[in-house]
Amino acid sequence: MVKVVKFGGSSLASAEQFRKVADIIHSDESRRYVVPSAPGKRFSSDTKVTDMLYGCYELAVKGRNFDKEFEAIKERYNSIIDELKIDLDLTEEFNTVKACFIGRAGRDYAASRGEYLNGKVLAAYLGYEFVDPAEIVFFREDGTFDIEPTLAAVSERLKGVERAVIPGFYGSMPNDTIKSFSRGGSDITGSIVAAGVNADLYENWTDVSGFLICDPRIVEDPEPIRTITYKELRELAYMGATVLHEDAIFPVRKAGIPINIKNTNKPGDPGTFIVESTSLKPLYTITGIAGKKGFAVVNIEKDMMNSELGFGRKVLEQFEKNGVSFEHMPSGIDTMSIVVHQNEFGEKEQEILAGIHRNAHPDVIDIETDLSLIAVVGRGMKSERGTAGRIFSALAHAHVNVKMIDQGSSELNIIIGVAERDFERAVSAIYEIFVLQKL
Ligand code: ASP
Repeated sequence: MVKVVKFGGSSLASAEQFRKVADIIHSDESRRYVVPSAPGKRFSSDTKVTDMLYGCYELAVKGRNFDKEFEAIKERYNSIIDELKIDLDLTEEFNTVKACFIGRAGRDYAASRGEYLNGKVLAAYLGYEFVDPAEIVFFREDGTFDIEPTLAAVSERLKGVERAVIPGFYGSMPNDTIKSFSRGGSDITGSIVAAGVNADLYENWTDVSGFLICDPRIVEDPEPIRTITYKELRELAYMGATVLHEDAIFPVRKAGIPINIKNTNKPGDPGTFIVESTSLKPLYTITGIAGKKGFAVVNIEKDMMNSELGFGRKVLEQFEKNGVSFEHMPSGIDTMSIVVHQNEFGEKEQEILAGIHRNAHPDVIDIETDLSLIAVVGRGMKSERGTAGRIFSALAHAHVNVKMIDQGSSELNIIIGVAERDFERAVSAIYEIFVLQKL
């Protein structure tokens, strides 16, 4: 059994966290490949090393002195090294990094040093081999990630390496400069390493015990999700639920490797398993609830719309021409509604409306704003009767007016549009009925 374990920034923010990480790794022989992030926040007002590096680099680019800021970064690493009594001196490394900042090695290079240096510290602490991802994670000329050669290189490089630390977040460009993923990108590196070594499991260690059924800022202490499929996760992530970088799914999903989100501070908690499919019956009819504010709806009416060939195309073309993508499009016989992001739409509103008038000749166009969308997601909904009914009766009881309903053909989710002021009340009511009352 081979596990790839990725530890996020808060899991490696201090010597105390490093100790927990080492305990976790040592407690399971199969945890052989370790992907660290840069040290994150130790307390809520703290600054992540990645942000400190970005800040320093900005100063360097402006030709300003950044000695003080750089010292603070060195201190983050040195305090961990000293406290854990690791036999490692990073002086040379720090000097190189500083010289490269002055030489303007690039923002990506600057940010990547957070993971690079943390990888050095963790490798020394664990006594594992250090493998620089610049050697094995590749980007194309246009800056996009190049998966095929990367997987081949990871597999080749780690063949015969029993245990290694491979820093997250970055790789290299064809011209050998450093390129980083977008923020939170160490999740992607973990996934790549897991796929490259054909791991049995990709464990992603963070500071929460997995995904929660809904946002804890709305419902107090919501239950965690034990098992979620990739498709369900995509629906929830799209609606704003975040724990894992979205691009981290692809490499492991393609290789059929499950992901387990785990909590470094509570290693005994089962966390959330993300899988392709499962025969496990979900505990509740729904897997999760997520939502977002900031939508507008363009409602269009035209008599006999249903029999007019090309009507929908003529309408949608106007959005496309103006570079506004639509999110949902519930329709009736003589009506169609187009749900868009309010701020994107606002900028192009008059051009789009004029275009619709000119090309599709509708009877009425009306715009509703300040709408929020709530996605109720669950593989269990397909086989249950009356899910939609229960949602709507819960919302009616909570005095929430439903403005829009859209059920995907997969029956995996139901999207509900409610006024922004009703958003929190609606999410709580749905949680209450499915999770607390277990209906
Ligand atoms: N350290 C980087 C960030 O803060 C990448 C990561 O942690 O995944 O975004």
